[in-house]
Amino acid sequence: MTITQPPRSARAEPTPARERVAYRTCPLCEATCGLELHLRDDEITLVRGDRDDVFSRGFLCPKGTALKALESDPDRLREPQVRRGDRWHTVSWDDAFGAVHEGLTPILDAHGRDAVAVYVGNPNVHNLAGQLYGRVLLQALRTTNVYSASTVDQMPKQVSAGLMFGTALSIPVPDVDRTDHLLMLGANPFESNGSLLTAPDLPGRLRSLRARGGKLVVVDPRRTKTAEEANEHLFIRPGTDAYFLIAMAHTLFAERLVALDRLADHVAGLAEVERLAGDFTPEVVAPVCGIDPDTIRRTARELATARRAAVYARIGTCTQEFGTLASWLVDVLNVITGNLDRDGGAMFPKPPTGSANTAGPPGQGRGVRFGRRHSRVRGLPEMFGELPVVCLPEEIDTPGEGRVRGFVTVAGNPVVSTPDSNRLDTALASLDFMVSVDLYRNETTRHADVILPPEGVLARGHYDLAFASLAIRNVARYSPQAVPLPEDAMPEWRILLRLAAIAAGDGPGADIDAWDDMVVGGLVEKAVRRPGSNVDARDPAELIGALSERRGPERIVDLMLRTGPYGDGFGADPDGLTLDRVAAEAHGIDLGPLQPRVPELLRTESGHIELAPEPVVADVDRLRAGLDRGRNGTLVLVGRRDLRSNNSWMHNLDVLVKGKERCTLHIHPDDATRLGLATGDEARVRSDTGEVELPAEVTDAVMRGVVSIPHGWGHTAAPGTAMAVAARRPGANSNVLAGGDRIDPLSGNAVLNGIPVAVEPVAR
Ligand code: SF4
Repeated sequence: MTITQPPRSARAEPTPARERVAYRTCPLCEATCGLELHLRDDEITLVRGDRDDVFSRGFLCPKGTALKALESDPDRLREPQVRRGDRWHTVSWDDAFGAVHEGLTPILDAHGRDAVAVYVGNPNVHNLAGQLYGRVLLQALRTTNVYSASTVDQMPKQVSAGLMFGTALSIPVPDVDRTDHLLMLGANPFESNGSLLTAPDLPGRLRSLRARGGKLVVVDPRRTKTAEEANEHLFIRPGTDAYFLIAMAHTLFAERLVALDRLADHVAGLAEVERLAGDFTPEVVAPVCGIDPDTIRRTARELATARRAAVYARIGTCTQEFGTLASWLVDVLNVITGNLDRDGGAMFPKPPTGSANTAGPPGQGRGVRFGRRHSRVRGLPEMFGELPVVCLPEEIDTPGEGRVRGFVTVAGNPVVSTPDSNRLDTALASLDFMVSVDLYRNETTRHADVILPPEGVLARGHYDLAFASLAIRNVARYSPQAVPLPEDAMPEWRILLRLAAIAAGDGPGADIDAWDDMVVGGLVEKAVRRPGSNVDARDPAELIGALSERRGPERIVDLMLRTGPYGDGFGADPDGLTLDRVAAEAHGIDLGPLQPRVPELLRTESGHIELAPEPVVADVDRLRAGLDRGRNGTLVLVGRRDLRSNNSWMHNLDVLVKGKERCTLHIHPDDATRLGLATGDEARVRSDTGEVELPAEVTDAVMRGVVSIPHGWGHTAAPGTAMAVAARRPGANSNVLAGGDRIDPLSGNAVLNGIPVAVEPVAR
């Protein structure tokens, strides 16, 4: 047999695969590591830390490498979905927005703006479109029913920072690289990589602190990985950090160790704080917090006498009944030891894209206002434009005028991540209409009528806006879109604008580019009218013409950079930043270590650091009343974090959830013996809100009287969900145990730490 082959030149040659490297800031957690992505055509073949990244210098964690699995996850939605009855259908974008128009508009017309609620999930803060166009959607909806993950997380810190310094994001961060002494409460950066503290390779930086002779003290009800790496670990009873901290303040006043140093002319309320702390001696608080008086005094003295020191606290101190008081006391200690706003202390970043504390006249502002409106059912006040998420179930299932009938979620899974989960799950099933912008059909979005999936991470540009306000160095890094937008995909910013247009009454076929022009035009107008701006009184048309030709988020980032504190002011400073200039540096631009910013940063009405703001002062009575509360020996529940898990979002990636069971009940050996539990036994945990079952893990890493369940689990495989890996490794939902009635009243934040529970073996 003879096979005739075409001449070589006529044969169809396979196109050689295109191998390339793209650099990108990791969008998966607050550490913002620089990644080096190896791509074959448009597929990731390898993820490495970018050794030349100006901030992260090659660090990455297992979640960063999981970006490859996230991009290729077969369960990730790539086209719009519409639910008819129990069945889901893939539809065109036009049909999907048509369905949103048909579902949402009648509710708005018949029942008013508040009849539609919005929930904004935590991934939005890692996503340019969510941050810049989410607010356009909220403005178009004009609903007071706005909810987010902030009130199960950091809201107490934002409230205390707003009251003390004048804006919600004026949050001091410990200058980890230069400090000699770090007192850390309720935080576990060896697992979480840091929060409200953006510092790639925070574990490495903490080890360096110790290596240069500094001291790390960790206060936590669990001996976390971070506590194991510290010089000293103090077990503390859950929910009592405010007692420990105020007794430290008491000690500093009593022993005349208070020294404001250069802040002396900028602080108001020092005498009031001394008066407030007067009752809280170490002896008085010791039985409450479980730390003996000598240790409290020694800890206070060490903080005050260290050459450079900082106090830092995170989620464990926010998600408790005295969350705002604890957050406030952290910065009281930073101020009265002279460590606020100095190198090696607790400092304020200056983000290149600007923030509320870089805008307007320096040194004074309007301060913050809360309670401009209240929730319908129980009258809880709004905070920074949103209501406590604990109100969400009752706003849907309580009949009456103003009931929520329509719901919009953007990258959120509140059925798993917010309190009273079972009630919310039931309430969502009763809605007239729900639309979700989401990558997955999860426990929440299964209730949606329409799901609009955004493009994958690599098909969008990235710039960390929020985390630059929390970073221990001032850096500017932009990651351009690394792969083309797939044919059937729609960028998230366009999805959000189309939703906004529907909400505003422009219908599903609105001209989205005209909407984008309107958004940018409004921002430029604001910039030229802002006193002290580097484009003060310039012609808006000239500025719009000079902006980047990119559309969507990138055009806005260009505006923010150019009008920001290092910006070119559209020619006013030829050496200043523009998006083009930042984009030209693939590994980012380092703008240096943090610099002192008081008083320029302050935006309080008085122009001072308000050390004793009135709402906080009033709440100290509640703290005092808690001293007399009996402690009845009930077990209490706290959360925990795992390096390979990030809230509820990444549980569908086998590469992260495989291996040992991560969602277990940590219980102290003495409690386990008393209850007849051994490692591996199934335990039932019951609160006055609900119950869950999960395997016990007996460990003395948790205090006696305390049990721990990691949050973000409980993937029920309920009808309509489509997350195969998560369904195989579901875990238990700790939020089933959290009652919506337990909040920190100053911030409306849910209490997730210190929940009384009963534990028993599950009889088999
Ligand atoms: S630490 Fe955070 S930012 Fe860095 S690679 Fe891991 S998930 Fe990404």
